Amino acid sequence: MHRPALSIVVPCYNEAATLPVLHQRVSAAAKAAVGDDHEIIFINDGSRDASWPIMQQLASADPRVAAINLSRNHGHQLALTAGLDLCSGEQILIIDADLQDPPELVTEMRATMAREGADVVFAVRRKRAGETLFKKATAAAFYRVLDRLTDTPIPLDTGDFRLMTRRALDALLALPEQARFIRGMVAWIGFRQVPFPYDRAERHAGETNYPLSRMLRLAFDAVTGFSTAPLRFASHASVALAGASLLLLVYILWGYFEGDPVQGWTSTMLVVTVLSAVQMFVLGMIGEYIGRLYIESKRRPLYLVADIAGTVHSRATLGF
Ligand code: UDP
Ligand code: MG
Repeated sequence: MHRPALSIVVPCYNEAATLPVLHQRVSAAAKAAVGDDHEIIFINDGSRDASWPIMQQLASADPRVAAINLSRNHGHQLALTAGLDLCSGEQILIIDADLQDPPELVTEMRATMAREGADVVFAVRRKRAGETLFKKATAAAFYRVLDRLTDTPIPLDTGDFRLMTRRALDALLALPEQARFIRGMVAWIGFRQVPFPYDRAERHAGETNYPLSRMLRLAFDAVTGFSTAPLRFASHASVALAGASLLLLVYILWGYFEGDPVQGWTSTMLVVTVLSAVQMFVLGMIGEYIGRLYIESKRRPLYLVADIAGTVHSRATLGF
């Protein structure tokens, strides 16, 4: 089997308005980098607009384009996994469909990879154009909290935009988990990984497909996937609470011997409510982990492919 020099993998959800420009820019960037020896893989993640027919047209017009139609919306990380499973290049570029990550950077990223002898070149966002203050603030907070909780150092302000070698990708694809936080999984595999600073552009068209609820889910997957620190919260809390009870005991005894015993509904209720809040929090965290254990234990395929347009010369792993 001939492996193209470069595969470009693009997960798409409702990106019909961007796809034609995207194809032009990605294709030109790939040609500038490696000539004709490349493939572009679009994954349609159950879009509700005309993304799939447009992809089919692109695939029939350009032999270097292949399009994968998933059976429904599986979410960004799983759509990306489908594309990574089915691509066959020696180097692999992961990129968002909305042109927030300029495809033209691939030439420089390849140069960095060669110069540094790296297996992964990950793009770090210096600036983010056209995103709300709320998105920027929550994203910044998320990356920093994650960094404190996890044992795997996951690079800050880094999305999925990155260039990988085939051996790094094969290592990544050997990780079977359902709850996929790909940028963390790539950090976990090791090898030499170097940052590549860039300015993130505005979305070409449409709106973000990561509303708050999805961001939270990704955040929970990231934390539970890479850290068990929340489970240890119960032990830390118990030490703190034991200290607090000791102080309370001293206070109560003091009052008793002074002839002015502590009494009252307020103090009792306060202790009861604070303790139940802590207990519920701990239960909730345990629940998050158990829920994930349950889902992993079902061993369902990560995604299902409905149709493929164009040719993929890929590994046989279709996820099922
Ligand atoms: N995406 C996807 N499936 C989804 C949601 C998003 O494949 O369910 C794709 C989307 O088309 C884009 C990338 O994931 O290429 C990132 O999504 P988006 O731009 O909405 O996220 P943001 O850049 O706002 O974090
Ligand atoms: Mg985007």
